[in-house]
Amino acid sequence: MFIFFTSVGLSEENNFRLVIHGGAGDITEKLISPEQKKEHEAKLTEALQAGYDILSKGGDSLDAVQAAVIIMEDSPLYNAGKGSSLTVDNKVELDASIMDGRDHKAGAVAGVSKVKNPIMAAYKVMTKSPYVLMGGVGAEQFAAAEGLDIVDPSYFVIESRVEQLKRVKEISHKIDQEKGVDAALYQDPLMYDYKYGTVGAVAVDIRGNLAAATSTGGSTNKHYGRIGDSPIVGAGTYADNNTIAISTTGLGEVFIRAVAAYDVAAQMKYRDTPLAEAAMNTLNSVKDMGGSGGIIAVDNKGNFVMQFNTKGMFRGTIGSDGIPQVAMFGP
Ligand code: ASP
Repeated sequence: MFIFFTSVGLSEENNFRLVIHGGAGDITEKLISPEQKKEHEAKLTEALQAGYDILSKGGDSLDAVQAAVIIMEDSPLYNAGKGSSLTVDNKVELDASIMDGRDHKAGAVAGVSKVKNPIMAAYKVMTKSPYVLMGGVGAEQFAAAEGLDIVDPSYFVIESRVEQLKRVKEISHKIDQEKGVDAALYQDPLMYDYKYGTVGAVAVDIRGNLAAATSTGGSTNKHYGRIGDSPIVGAGTYADNNTIAISTTGLGEVFIRAVAAYDVAAQMKYRDTPLAEAAMNTLNSVKDMGGSGGIIAVDNKGNFVMQFNTKGMFRGTIGSDGIPQVAMFGP
């Protein structure tokens, strides 16, 4: 059974807004200890503050979403950058994308293992290459040539993810034995576990320009080479000044098939559907296809949603009043 939780915010006159997520999933008071809750609240607030510092000085939404995502990529709390989920062969392969709502410019990287901040590489692809999406070694070489920090892949690996992979493999093995096939190979039986932690940010600046960014380590136990929705423009990320900036999180394969991010924008563009209703329709489509997850989005007037059909989603928002609001559980 899926339940929808929506936080809807109304626009403030002539103002900016930043909305972030740190992944959706089985995020409940039972599974998150009070200490973990505090850590998440502090980190989400720090990410909001980084974006606020830019937006409040009249800076671009594009810079604000990047700044917020970098804070979360650098934190081991989330499944992006340091602390990412591990592949079936104990490695990290990171995906990220960014989009500029002014002109539909976009940049993305997929399957990178050495770029410290994949969102910065996505930004470089958008601004310094003729491409939209670069993958693997070529993307890493490009990022290095652009002067980005390159790290040893071990930088991203944290102990709790090693343990998580072991657990996932044990469960997969059990499922295989029960079914007599290797049906569970490369699957993540804990997909609805609270390990979700993809990060994303969307913003509108004082000029009404929209931007969106998403970064992830993808699903645990994924086959090397698997790429999810996060680096796919229109699935994991989308921005268009006339509609919304949006970042999604959840079972990537389904979000790609639902063309989830664009699906929300298209309903608004062609049918004038209100944002909260459009987001709910899209999450319903995702649910019908067997997926779950969450969506954050903001329009050019500062109306925003933080919506999910999982038990929780790490999320937060800040506007011109400078008061950060963070939450993680369903109401
Ligand atoms: N959407 C991500 C992926 O499938 C995972 C997530 O959002 O947690 O790669």
